[in-house]
Amino acid sequence: AAPLGIRTLAVDASADACAGQVAELLIAGWSDEAALADFARRVDAVTFDFENVPAATAERLAGQVAVHPNPQALAVAQDRLAEKTLFRESGLDTPGFAAVDTRDDLVAAVERIGLPAILKTRRLGYDGKGQFRLKTAADIDAAWAALGEAAAKHGLILEAFVPFDRELSVVAVRGRDGEFRTWPLTRNWHVDGVLSLSLAPAPGTSDALEQAAVAQAKAIAERLGYVGVFALELFVRGGELLGNEMAPRVHNSGHWTIEGAHTSQFENHIRAVLGLPLGDTGARGASAMLNWIGEMPDPAPVLSVADGHWHDYGKEARPGRKVGHATICASDAGSLRAKLVEVGSGLGREAQVAPAIEVLG
Ligand code: ATP
Ligand code: MG
Ligand code: MG
Repeated sequence: AAPLGIRTLAVDASADACAGQVAELLIAGWSDEAALADFARRVDAVTFDFENVPAATAERLAGQVAVHPNPQALAVAQDRLAEKTLFRESGLDTPGFAAVDTRDDLVAAVERIGLPAILKTRRLGYDGKGQFRLKTAADIDAAWAALGEAAAKHGLILEAFVPFDRELSVVAVRGRDGEFRTWPLTRNWHVDGVLSLSLAPAPGTSDALEQAAVAQAKAIAERLGYVGVFALELFVRGGELLGNEMAPRVHNSGHWTIEGAHTSQFENHIRAVLGLPLGDTGARGASAMLNWIGEMPDPAPVLSVADGHWHDYGKEARPGRKVGHATICASDAGSLRAKLVEVGSGLGREAQVAPAIEVLG
């Protein structure tokens, strides 16, 4: 927002919120009616970059000021059951799924969906947290021990485990006037449920598959009356697309757009929310994004390649936490591959870059 001359006011419950480094930080309890009303009076539009803002709070704000994306879209994307139901209604197939509220439900769902399967909390899960993978019926007890408490609070969903060929995401933006754009498809690799590596434009994707993925994202956005940036996470199996989830916000798999696209997902989100013309979503070349999980590595190997970019979120190191990322850009796939070989060995992280080197080769 800052380069566009737009001033921001960030609401966060924690005093050391990253947003406080770049914006006036307002610390508010989500249930504080007076604080919300004061916030609404001070701004022209409200958005969020975190999907677990209470939808009811967004709804209350929407009565006082423009809120984009709309609170109903937020509510659907917060609930894996509502989300997958919406995907199917708009013609996007999903892994088989069943709602699970009790241990008996889990036993019945395992029978219906089959194994292997993944039990997930319907709400509040991220980076693979709140998930339990079941291989055999003997895992039911352990799964229930891990997530039974969450079942009572928010409900669970059992999903068929998909032996996918690859994972893709569509990062898309829809304007207030309904204009819809997508960045080139991104290919993603997760390690232990956490995004490790993204590559864009996704190499080896047929035009037909890309068009199908974009059409699905557009149909979902239109159905939700969505305004802003979102990501649709997809599995590809045997050339078919299955919807995993959507993120009603800028997305980790779109971080490469900061340096790798003509307009970044962040800028286009702000443009969409404010009703400004959307920017060009085309890629400047080929890009790879590497996530730093747990702690920041040495920046030198990334900084010493041309068009290598470093992002340190200033977060405290903690196992499993995303603390930063790097994006390596190049004019074409061959030169990106060469840079990734160099960066991977410089960091001693050959394994993290290996999947990209393989598909770029
Ligand atoms: P995010 O950080 O993307 O919000 P999340 O915690 O919401 O993650 P998911 O996207 O549901 O979790 O799962 C994380 C990853 O685990 C997926 O990207 C995929 O690699 C794997 N996964 C999830 N569900 C399935 C499934 N049904 N079959 C196979 N793999 C799966
Ligand atoms: Mg998620
Ligand atoms: Mg996900």
